[in-house]
Amino acid sequence: MLLGVHCSVSGGLEHAFDEARTLNLDTFQVFTRNQRQWKAKPISEDEKKAFATAWANNPKVKVIFSHASYLINLASADDGLRHKSIAGFTEEVIRCHELGLAYTVLHPGAAGEGSEEDAMNRIADSLKKIVAETHGSKVKILLENTAGQGSHVGYKFEHIRNIMDLAGSDRIGNCFDTCHAFAAGYNIATEDGFHKTWEEYDRIIGLDNLFAIHLNDSKGDLGSRLDRHDHIGQGKIGKLAFKLMMKKFQHIPKVIETDEENNMDEVNIKLLRELAA
Ligand SMILES: [Zn+2]
Ligand SMILES: [Zn+2]
Repeated sequence: MLLGVHCSVSGGLEHAFDEARTLNLDTFQVFTRNQRQWKAKPISEDEKKAFATAWANNPKVKVIFSHASYLINLASADDGLRHKSIAGFTEEVIRCHELGLAYTVLHPGAAGEGSEEDAMNRIADSLKKIVAETHGSKVKILLENTAGQGSHVGYKFEHIRNIMDLAGSDRIGNCFDTCHAFAAGYNIATEDGFHKTWEEYDRIIGLDNLFAIHLNDSKGDLGSRLDRHDHIGQGKIGKLAFKLMMKKFQHIPKVIETDEENNMDEVNIKLLRELAA
């Protein structure tokens, strides 16, 4: 059913497979580097080998993808920061390529003081450069829908569509986050709202552009624009939406990104498997 979690790489990238094995996962997400620092050491040959060996020993894992650093802002009007972001994200695509990861998930960017339209133009221009710079790679760049916190763009399906159109590459798709969508005002919590949301999604973004899903409940209310994840079924979204998600998207990799303390990854995965049954 392609269900997993965000796995920790503490102790080395290959250690992501430890949790995958324990929870019997067939997909997972990782940070390939410290997500709160600009600098990252290139991946060494030994690290690549260790990762490949761990994967070969865990053949149940079918799809692995990364989440890009939170520092990256391709929308920044500050040339220095934007160029740093372009370089940092280009590096991330290369790291994914070297590890054999399918996708990297990116928050589109924050407009700051400027308009959303200018922000989206800068994101698309940046993406064009990154795609060109990594033209030998098949790694797809998945723009994640946001909650619309602060000045972040990407909280409307139209934003994702617009950036994809402007960037014009078949290597750009979408990662759908349930918490962010709900916080942005898409009411997936009711059966009617769920179906309306996915009809709208298909009309604007297109279901063929959906490559990964983040399954998170929301601490914030519908339309609150708060990016605060909650455990499955314990937030304002509730179990029904996750049952519907599990049934509708069996073939799309789905990962949980909630606090993993107190074995909560195990609890959340168990619940999602029950809902899918
Ligand atoms: Zn994210
Ligand atoms: Zn997410």
